[in-house]
Amino acid sequence: MRRSQDAIGAPNLRPCPKCGAYVMPHRVCSECGYYKDVLVVEPKAKIKETK
Ligand SMILES: [Zn+2]
Repeated sequence: MRRSQDAIGAPNLRPCPKCGAYVMPHRVCSECGYYKDVLVVEPKAKIKETK
């Protein structure tokens, strides 16, 4: 229980070119559902992302 969680957090986030929301790189934007100009998922859809 010592400092093991310190490495987690502050991941590098990139602003989505579509909506500007900060999302994980190389991930579908969770806000607008776009990734590389392609609508991958429906916006605001509840998606369980497996880690
Ligand atoms: Zn977006």
